Amino acid sequence: MKNLKNALLLKQLYKLKQLGYSYTSVIPFKEEEPDLTLPNTLEKLEKQALECHLCKLSKSRTNVVFGEGNIDASIMFVGEAPGSNEDSTGKPFVGRSGELLTKMIENVLLIQREDVYITNIVKCRPIDNAEPTPTEAHTCQPYLLKQIKLIQPKFIVALGATAYHYLSGDETNISKVRGTIHKQDGYTLIPTYHPSYLLRNPSAKKDVFEDLKMLKELL
Ligand code: URA
Repeated sequence: MKNLKNALLLKQLYKLKQLGYSYTSVIPFKEEEPDLTLPNTLEKLEKQALECHLCKLSKSRTNVVFGEGNIDASIMFVGEAPGSNEDSTGKPFVGRSGELLTKMIENVLLIQREDVYITNIVKCRPIDNAEPTPTEAHTCQPYLLKQIKLIQPKFIVALGATAYHYLSGDETNISKVRGTIHKQDGYTLIPTYHPSYLLRNPSAKKDVFEDLKMLKELL
């Protein structure tokens, strides 16, 4: 499968980087691999993802966390990766950061969590909650791109640097890009801080409040 070959190729590139070669390390998620035939309904796509063994995260996961919410949503939230609560329930953002995300959606956007769609860059929990490796992110990429294609959200809120970097291909620090909007691939990308960052840095909550207010006005 071309995707697996690409993953192995990326591994080689990271080895070269360790030897001192330089190249841009964030390769943006782009259109689906043309030869990767993924189903054309979310239900079937989820079924396929639940049986995915394309990367090593599949060996340690309890559940695949595909994503949940309104399949006709105009807003999609994309986080980084499932944590332990998500791994054990199979649902995205159900721990403390999930509670905060729900409050932000309901109190600032004034809509229900069920009205938006929520997913992650990778669908399986990385061991020790590590940031997903580029190989893991790129191996999982076709699932997210297909989710976007099927749901066709008008806005995607990138929660944190990892989501923003992969969705945009731009490595600018999240603190510099939050508060801005980026039109791309048929949707508007809105970068903001990850809820778990807000739990550690509550003073940044006002920034996310502003970012979501801006989204509310755009809606
Ligand atoms: N953090 C994430 O990025 N995603 C989740 O689903 C939970 C925590």
